[in-house]
Amino acid sequence: MSQAAATPTDTIVAAATPPGRGGVAIVRISGPVVPTLLPALLGAVCAARAAANPRLAVSASFRAADGSALDSGLALYFPAPHSYTGEHVLELHGHGGPVPVEALVRRALELGARRALPGEFTQRAYLNDKLDLAQAEAVASLIDAASDAAARAALRSLQGELSRRVLRLSELIGALRASVEVAIDFADEHIDSLSDAALQGQLEAVALELQGLQHACRQGRLLTEGMTVVIAGRPNAGKSTLLNRLAGYEAAIVTALPGTTRDVLREHLLLDALPMHVLDTAGLRAAGESTADVIEAEGIRRAQAAMAQADRILFVLDAASDPGAAAYQAERARLPPGVPVTLVFNKIDLTTAAASGAREAGEPACIHLSALTGEGVDRLVTHLKECIGFSDGEAGVVSARARHVEALGRVEMRLAQARELLQGRRVPELVADELRHAQHALGEIVGAEDSDELLRRIFSMFCIGK
Ligand code: GDP
Repeated sequence: MSQAAATPTDTIVAAATPPGRGGVAIVRISGPVVPTLLPALLGAVCAARAAANPRLAVSASFRAADGSALDSGLALYFPAPHSYTGEHVLELHGHGGPVPVEALVRRALELGARRALPGEFTQRAYLNDKLDLAQAEAVASLIDAASDAAARAALRSLQGELSRRVLRLSELIGALRASVEVAIDFADEHIDSLSDAALQGQLEAVALELQGLQHACRQGRLLTEGMTVVIAGRPNAGKSTLLNRLAGYEAAIVTALPGTTRDVLREHLLLDALPMHVLDTAGLRAAGESTADVIEAEGIRRAQAAMAQADRILFVLDAASDPGAAAYQAERARLPPGVPVTLVFNKIDLTTAAASGAREAGEPACIHLSALTGEGVDRLVTHLKECIGFSDGEAGVVSARARHVEALGRVEMRLAQARELLQGRRVPELVADELRHAQHALGEIVGAEDSDELLRRIFSMFCIGK
């Protein structure tokens, strides 16, 4: 529920269906003037019928100020609070052309409404406690979903699965905090409650729940927002050829998004409906093999920075000249820790050496392919989809955003602090404070700790009319 933003008192209007021509278009009006605008828009008889039959379709003529018909169709009246926004809502289902739609919108403006901002209907639903913030974001994810898997994950979040898990974790932390606060209250009586095994057990349970939630949210973010993959490796390993091959992959759609830089080439692709941001970087030279070229040196610095931000590094090797992955072995200490790596043995068309078999635990996955001929590229795409959990049976995958993952990172940090303080038998007040901060970070996910700025950022990503 919102704490910062005030509940709006004006009435908004927008087309709820996309612009263009279609069988039917829906114009939606939401706000306090809706009941008084009914007779002017529908005529006295139809307005009375609509008011007497809430949420049921009523056949009507939609009227101009002089009583003439602007269009005809169905009217649905949703009296507050039983509507999407929680306010009085009127939906007009008319003919699907831009001219009749704009005529209805202008008529609503005449009658006291104003044009809705992007996402404003959903923002009102949030402000009226119809949805929490994670659910509201799931509405946008469902609309933007590029695949069945992404749509199903968004629906799970919309139905409250992500929020329930967040609240459950918050409750566990709350219970732990209560135990710590009991220890504070009894501190004078020398009860050593902080060393209690039960407390340690509670801490373990919280850690386990957090781990599961972090995993689900990371997967969900990749599914929703796409995975950032950096193609790295020595010069001439075939990095650019691989990027071009991926962009030209049969099931790839290259999407144009702003932010393309010249030094790090960035392609936004849908690979088999999986959103992916692929970055081709300047070749990493071997250690000791310095470059006098300042532009190249800067390119390498940027390649390192891109890798540190990536969800996965594809380290491309020339399978013909470097079958033992010496380039990777030489580079691995300089790769950012914590970013998973896949070794791509490229140029298999030049070598007869068989793909090496099982890999050791903890070693990167290996994919053998030829970026030039395309052989094996489908294996790489399948591998990337598996990394996201695209073919995971999807159990428990929810849509999630980078801001959710980031908030959970802060929860993890606070819990680590709390654990350290507990182990050091330090001031229990500080432990309780860390736990309070952890709960606060969780509250940001569902919106209990919202701010106008956060709401503006979230809802401005929506389309108008939603
Ligand atoms: P980059 O410097 O890593 O970006 O490498 P490029 O993509 O520019 O490729 C370097 C050279 O290797 C070019 O001549 C490519 O045509 C060639 N090349 C790239 N991939 C393959 C491959 O799979 N097989 C063969 N035979 N040549 C390749």
